[in-house]
Amino acid sequence: MFKTFRFGGIHPDSCKEYSKESPIERLPMPKMLTVPMSMSAGAPAKLVVGVGDVVSKGQLIGEKSGFVSANVHSPADGVVKEIVTVTLPAGNSCSAARIETNEEQSDPFSKRLDDESVAKLSKQELVAIVERSGIVGMGGAAFPANVKYGVKDGVKVEYLLINACECEPYLTCDCRLLVERRAEIIKGIRVLKSLFGNPDTRLCTEANKKAEAEGLMAEAGSGSFALEILKTKYPQGDEKSIINAVTGREVPSGKLPLDVGCVVVNLGTAVAVYEAVYYGKPSYERVVTVTGKGVRHPKNLLCPVGAPVRSLLDFCGGLAEGASMIISGGPMMGFSFYDLDTPIAKATSGILVLDKVSEKKEYPCISCGRCAAACPMRLVPTRMYKFIMNERVSDAIDINLMDCRECGCCEFSCPSGIPLVQGFKMGKKIWRSRK
Ligand code: SF4
Ligand code: SF4
Repeated sequence: MFKTFRFGGIHPDSCKEYSKESPIERLPMPKMLTVPMSMSAGAPAKLVVGVGDVVSKGQLIGEKSGFVSANVHSPADGVVKEIVTVTLPAGNSCSAARIETNEEQSDPFSKRLDDESVAKLSKQELVAIVERSGIVGMGGAAFPANVKYGVKDGVKVEYLLINACECEPYLTCDCRLLVERRAEIIKGIRVLKSLFGNPDTRLCTEANKKAEAEGLMAEAGSGSFALEILKTKYPQGDEKSIINAVTGREVPSGKLPLDVGCVVVNLGTAVAVYEAVYYGKPSYERVVTVTGKGVRHPKNLLCPVGAPVRSLLDFCGGLAEGASMIISGGPMMGFSFYDLDTPIAKATSGILVLDKVSEKKEYPCISCGRCAAACPMRLVPTRMYKFIMNERVSDAIDINLMDCRECGCCEFSCPSGIPLVQGFKMGKKIWRSRK
């Protein structure tokens, strides 16, 4: 019996088979990159380059502009051709630097620090490296990592949970990292463990990636961290779900994992931390799963941020006949979009192309309660939704709308096809704008 979170959850088809066995390939450098200044939660970065500037790979081009904000670096050697406004799949717009890339690219981050030198770095020095490198949570939330890692003195981290659950259907980038980047992950986890004061550290994954995770553990040996194989159940990779599954603790409403002594770090983020600490490499590229029946040859690609989605699809043989919807991320929490020039961002874990999308008919609520039974946050989705639709957002807030993780379990379970998550997003937006 594998551990799992206590309440709710669903079992959608995993659909990992399209890309699970495809080794990570590097996307050839696109001729033009459009690097957005807003790739993290919080304030967008402030552009520090202008049209005509020559930039080198890893150079700072956007400076963090607030406490919750992240630096942006050039993913390539090239020239800034234009400053434009881009709209990202989530619907937000921001400034972006359009960089024409050089044919020849340098390799400026090839000199590696040895383990002994890394071991001498203090917690403050490690957090400063993470901040300088513009690392954000790569599991989707894009929260600036240095803010999460800057734990105040006196606050004890009891558990460090490395999140390799990848519970979103279709996505396989973390699964490939488990197979192909073992040494980097092991060292990245050790760095994180020392940064957080040597807490009990677990590599957490779902049962459908057990073999891949065990392979990594065989290389890691015993001692520095343990393996937790959790039940394959969505949303196992949600921070609050993973904490509940591993520690039995519940993060109270409005509180953070740290309030119950836990820090959760995505697997891809651990790799980014390794690269930043050992090589001084900023966060300017990531592995993206390009998958679904609507793409000819699904792959896992190492892509520079700013690469147009079109370039990834072209490298995967283009769209298959009948391709009808493109989603950034997975089918549960992703965003559909139409513009193939949309750039890859630091938290873009996947590009999913569906071949047929059945027209969803909406029927009246039959008060069956399935939505509430599926909700891992123990909310009452049907009530929240009705309040929002009746312009009673503050009543929805009173029954904890802001705790909604937008995981989609309720909507997935609803026999009436009610677009619950869309309603919750709208309710939150109204509430934030009122605030
Ligand atoms: S989307 Fe929100 S309300 Fe629906 S199941 Fe997830 S957390 Fe609960
Ligand atoms: S699952 Fe759908 S039909 Fe059933 S109570 Fe919830 S909103 Fe109503």
